[in-house]
Amino acid sequence: MSTPQHRPRVIIIGGGFAGLSAARGLASTPCDITLLDRRNHHLFQPLLYQVATAALSPAQIAAPIRRILRSQRNATVLLADVSSIDPQTRVVKIKPAPGDAAADEQSLPYDHLVLAAGVTHSYFGRDDWADLAPGLKSVEDATAIRAKFLIAFEAAERATDPYERRYHLTFIVVGGGPTGVELAGAMAEIARSILTSEFRSIKTETARVILVEANERVLSTYPADLSDRAKRDLESLGVQVLTSSRVTHIDPRGVEIRIARAPDLPANAPDPEPLRVDAATVVWAAGVKASPLAASLGVPLDKAGRVLVNADLSIPNHPEIFVAGDLASVMQHSAPSKPVPGVAPAAMQMGRHVARVIRAELVALSQGQSPPPRPPFVYTNKGELATIGRNKAVGVLGFGLNFPFAGFFAWLFWALVHVTYLIGFRNRLLVMFDWVWSYVFFSRGARLITTDQHDRAAPPQAR
Ligand SMILES: Cc1cc2nc3c(=O)[nH]c(=O)nc-3n(C[C@H](O)[C@H](O)[C@H](O)COP(=O)(O)OP(=O)(O)OC[C@H]3O[C@@H](n4cnc5c(N)ncnc54)[C@H](O)[C@@H]3O)c2cc1C
Repeated sequence: MSTPQHRPRVIIIGGGFAGLSAARGLASTPCDITLLDRRNHHLFQPLLYQVATAALSPAQIAAPIRRILRSQRNATVLLADVSSIDPQTRVVKIKPAPGDAAADEQSLPYDHLVLAAGVTHSYFGRDDWADLAPGLKSVEDATAIRAKFLIAFEAAERATDPYERRYHLTFIVVGGGPTGVELAGAMAEIARSILTSEFRSIKTETARVILVEANERVLSTYPADLSDRAKRDLESLGVQVLTSSRVTHIDPRGVEIRIARAPDLPANAPDPEPLRVDAATVVWAAGVKASPLAASLGVPLDKAGRVLVNADLSIPNHPEIFVAGDLASVMQHSAPSKPVPGVAPAAMQMGRHVARVIRAELVALSQGQSPPPRPPFVYTNKGELATIGRNKAVGVLGFGLNFPFAGFFAWLFWALVHVTYLIGFRNRLLVMFDWVWSYVFFSRGARLITTDQHDRAAPPQAR
């Protein structure tokens, strides 16, 4: 790479875990950083399910990116929706500002680019299910799910027909990964221990929460005994866990679930009939697909559309472009058959790695030296944790220990880790306060229905 005549321009797309870590890692580097995000806030996605289930308010798990980087003089934050990247001319194209549709796309030139635009949910080719079964990725998703969830109880309270009540009080969660497990556990817990005294016509504890998972077990990346423990914990909260089962159809009245054949069924026995479940609320927590920006790089992608990056996280033939976070597809340095997982610690580590590489090169160039060789990205697995409900969590401690643990201490550890990684002292304090309050008084502080779409809860005509 030749030395640029101007101060080097680094564009970072995405103010999530990877993009922010990259920006912060370049704080004392002689360069001008422009961080672009289509939202004005960094979102702590691991606690989104708590917004969806009314435990926390959106502002407690989000922070304005502009504020986070306010003291970093070499960083400029722009609210901008990136439409494409042109690696040949080294420009990023951004859509016209809202309300200025007549304007042309704007092009921003870069010397180094860090693409950290993340992933979104995948409906495996059934995008028409998106309205019927919202996924959980943004604040808007979480408040929409919260409204759906709370409206269901209100509609059931008003209903006079037992079928109608059952329809409103049935909740389906599709996908038994950490998000699905956390959502299903929280929904069952609220119905059974928080809302019970507030309704007069319905018994909220009769609500059915059904978790559908295509794999043989929930939390399939965890050791088998922790998956079993999570399933038992969910069942103790009243969640019906259907493993080896797929949702094959969703309509406004509910879902059809195909349950795998029992292994002891004779070969000539017919497949079990799909199970029809009428439910007012269906939530999608299965599968991810990459940001479409990955495709505009014109380099090989994996099955989910993520960029197959080099060991240093740059892309083939373009050492000036890096991809970090969920959007990067890369194997672990110490275990080349294992992919780096799509989790927040991996995204932060990637962001910091990219910043170190760029910094080393820019510092060397500014001193008239040739850039040092680039080290590969090495992922440190700190472990994984999923909470199921009050005093219930499962986890594996990383750092090479691979120590599995579950129960109250795992739950306490989960809470500590999540509070520690939240951005902003005020948010940490408020979240801790709300959790202690909820724990002591069995209450949920954010039970606001902020939509007037009550008609969405209209019961089906057919029985
Ligand atoms: C519900 C849920 C629960 C999770 N729970 C956990 C957990 O418990 N533990 C854990 O470790 N991980 C968890 N994760 C995963 C973790 O949140 C991700 O691994 C992490 O957010 C990835 O960081 P990232 O920076 O790659 O992407 P993101 O954090 O998704 O950030 C991407 C950013 O890019 C911006 N962007 C996207 N497209 C554009 C565009 N075209 N133009 C401008 N900006 C754009 C977005 O607005 C966003 O701010 C969870 C994820 C979800 C959705």
